[in-house]
Amino acid sequence: MKVHSIQSLGTLDGPGVRFVVFVQGCHLRCKCCHNPDTWKMTDGKDMSAEEIATRVERYKEYFGTDGGITVSGGEPLLQADEVARLFELCRANGINTCLDTSGSVMNDDVKKLLEVTDRVLLDIKYTNDADYLENVGCSISPVLEFLDYLDTVQIPTTLRQVIIPTLNDTDESVEKLKAIRDSHSCVDSVELLAFRKMCETKYNNLGIPFPLADTPEPTKEQMDELKNML
Ligand code: SF4
Repeated sequence: MKVHSIQSLGTLDGPGVRFVVFVQGCHLRCKCCHNPDTWKMTDGKDMSAEEIATRVERYKEYFGTDGGITVSGGEPLLQADEVARLFELCRANGINTCLDTSGSVMNDDVKKLLEVTDRVLLDIKYTNDADYLENVGCSISPVLEFLDYLDTVQIPTTLRQVIIPTLNDTDESVEKLKAIRDSHSCVDSVELLAFRKMCETKYNNLGIPFPLADTPEPTKEQMDELKNML
């Protein structure tokens, strides 16, 4: 598996304390991406599922009842076969498995991976096709189809959305997100995250223009208001 980096004890990506694996490689180009250094499929370090599972096991005592492993990225679904092997090994060890994904890929390997996934964090970036095409680089259709599949196989799902002023911070957009939540019984939580520009240095270092350099960050009041709508 191509790995970008590992965070041994994270608290932001899924329930409880988690061992977070950020995989290398992503086929999308979200304008708000915080990890442009994970894009290139050819970068990253090769690690086997067995090697990672052995490292995860060392942290088992910190996971408690809620924690476990999260695989994030990059896009984990591009390496679904190997992530599935990793999750199989973790599950066999009683370790909870969580997948943080854009939900834009579906094939037999992805279905196999979902069979050994305890929770999905689905990054639903916008609520309409035009915004997806303009700001992500794919249609919203595969993402909604992915969510429909999660609903069919009933995998507990957290919807996550980064709120970006001028792009998706409208009441209308949050209402649509609510409707998506309410029409999928697998969704048990929704997280709205504030757009932050801390990643700008990464873009500068990579020599890639940051498309949202002039976009303001949302205020706490604005975030509270949108969260209350949910
Ligand atoms: S899917 Fe994730 S890693 Fe890929 S471009 Fe979007 S935010 Fe970045």
